[in-house]
Amino acid sequence: MKTIAVELAYFLRGRARQNLKVLMLYCAFLVAMILIYALLFRSLMWNLEGREFSLIAGIYWAITVMTTLGFGDITFHTDLGYIFAAVVTVSGVIFLLIILPFGLISLFLAPWIEHRLRNRLAAELPKETSGHVVIFGIDAITRAFIGKLQARHIPFVIVISDHDEALRLVDEGLRVICGSLTDASLLTAVRVAAARYVVANLSDPENATICLTVRSLCQTPIASFIDDPEHGNLLRQAGANQVIALHKILGRYLAIRSTTCGALAHVLDSFGDLLIAEIPVHGTPFSGETLENAGIRQRTGLAVIGIWERGSFMVPTRDTQLKDHALLVLAGSRAQLESLEQLTGERAKDDLVFILGHGRIGCAAATFLERKSVPFILVDRSENPSCTEHITIYGDATIRHVLKDAGIDQARGLIVTTNDDSTNIFLTLASRQLLPHIRLVARANREEAVEQLYRAGADFVVSNASVGAGILFNILESKASAFLTEGVSVFRRPLPESLVGQTIADSQLRPRTGCSIVALEPTHGDSLVSPPPDTRLEKGITLILIGTPAQEELFDTAIRDH
Ligand code: ADP
Ligand code: ZN
Repeated sequence: MKTIAVELAYFLRGRARQNLKVLMLYCAFLVAMILIYALLFRSLMWNLEGREFSLIAGIYWAITVMTTLGFGDITFHTDLGYIFAAVVTVSGVIFLLIILPFGLISLFLAPWIEHRLRNRLAAELPKETSGHVVIFGIDAITRAFIGKLQARHIPFVIVISDHDEALRLVDEGLRVICGSLTDASLLTAVRVAAARYVVANLSDPENATICLTVRSLCQTPIASFIDDPEHGNLLRQAGANQVIALHKILGRYLAIRSTTCGALAHVLDSFGDLLIAEIPVHGTPFSGETLENAGIRQRTGLAVIGIWERGSFMVPTRDTQLKDHALLVLAGSRAQLESLEQLTGERAKDDLVFILGHGRIGCAAATFLERKSVPFILVDRSENPSCTEHITIYGDATIRHVLKDAGIDQARGLIVTTNDDSTNIFLTLASRQLLPHIRLVARANREEAVEQLYRAGADFVVSNASVGAGILFNILESKASAFLTEGVSVFRRPLPESLVGQTIADSQLRPRTGCSIVALEPTHGDSLVSPPPDTRLEKGITLILIGTPAQEELFDTAIRDH
């Protein structure tokens, strides 16, 4: 009843009310037309054929003829009568069967449907909503983040100013509130004070506005992306708790995997004093050896927790051979990495990395390599207006002679980081063909490109969306997991009750979930890296595990919730 009243109320407001008046006038016109035809019908019947009909019969005749029903029970038998009937039929078709439905659709049905569609957008979240994540701005990164939230059943709402985009998102089944970002009432509508986190993923000025507006209302933590790393302090001042310079991080991830220089340059992430590093086998004394013979553990104390080979990751066994083009994932302390560096030596001098694309990410990769004294050459078809430091070779990298002339044959590493995925795929294909042994790291702007880049021959693909989403999720979960690269994560979990007192071998963690224990973190003292299978799992310790996202999920459902 209430909904019918709401729908009826729509027709009594604004333009709908105007349209209703037009419809009334048109109907009055039609009634008048029928009456006139009825009177004419009576008069013609009487004068031409001497037959008498009532006014009601006249109206009945006019309506059946105008609507082309023409039952044939009352008909003229004279030429003039036929002509009159034809005129009535044609005018009926035009005014009753064409103009009336057309008017009804364009003046009522279409605006009403549009009104209904607009009304699909909720104006505010239900009062009881809490613990949700408020996301400003939707792109590949926040979409990947939303995927993670949905997998963990964490509620969220997307805030967006573009109405059409908002409706598209609602059609996808997402919770959306539409409004102006500078409007404080919008924040009240998304119940920001009761939210778990706010994610600001718009331009730097817009993110700053969001931070200031949120802070004027409540202390809900805010994670904000920034385009320009120099804006970090500004955003912190505006109220952001976490500032993510994503381009810088992506540049660093690409650079770390492209170079063969010293071990300490390869640290990807850290859990307290436990560092996770990725180091190419190439150039180390371990090349071609089995893991057991390489004796990395005995010589440095570092644990090899994984091996990458052209996009596929595996947890090694003692007999795994360390191929020259593979990359070792190591876990250990800074001191242990230093002893590895002594063993392998600093190899920056004979290294040369080509960076294709001098945008923000390419520039960040160059800055990282520069700091590690790794020689590099940048190629871009146009100037980077915000960088005056790096010398660039100008030319379209997809044209073969441009890279040849720049001396790509001498390169040991290659970073493909243009803003266009098909260009990246093409450059990966062409470079892999030209230089089969080059260490090739590519950036994926869209998730779909990850697989294609691997197939084109990339050794590593760093995806903007997964890195961004991974970082956001780390922040949300207070760094429960570290991002390594596509498809593998190192994550931290408190020891589940069900495993207390068991040895690692008894716990059957690897057969049950596929995850491997990287280290054990006691409540006090140093972490135990790569613990042997007979280590007993004591109450209160924290596990650091490595696995694919699916295995991580399995750990959470099969072990943790037990
Ligand atoms: P981001 O800042 O995310 O790295 P940008 O769009 O700023 O992305 O940078 C991408 C860079 O890649 C631009 O400087 C662009 O000129 C460059 N680029 C794109 N296609 C080619 C190409 N075919 N050859 C060389 N450079 C390219
Ligand atoms: Zn630069």
